Amino acid sequence: MVRPSLRVAKTRKVRTPSQTKIRRINKKTKKAHCSQCGADLHGVVFGHQSKVRKTSKSERLPTRVHAGYMCSRCLKSGIKAKARVTS
Ligand SMILES: [Zn+2]
Repeated sequence: MVRPSLRVAKTRKVRTPSQTKIRRINKKTKKAHCSQCGADLHGVVFGHQSKVRKTSKSERLPTRVHAGYMCSRCLKSGIKAKARVTS
């Protein structure tokens, strides 16, 4: 575990009847978008960081090439274009 002085997680002070406590803020991650057309990517986990971390690696992303980076349509057209140039 990281030393407490080196932690960079956002904190917020919460007043309780007996004392003021420091509470860590659980940040949310945004939806993944395609790098070519900007469409939302399916099958990519987003939301609270703790929720994303708890899911298994196979649940986080699809298992095909360029998953979490390009949508399936753009990948398909890219592969086709590359094959047509080389052949
Ligand atoms: Zn796309």
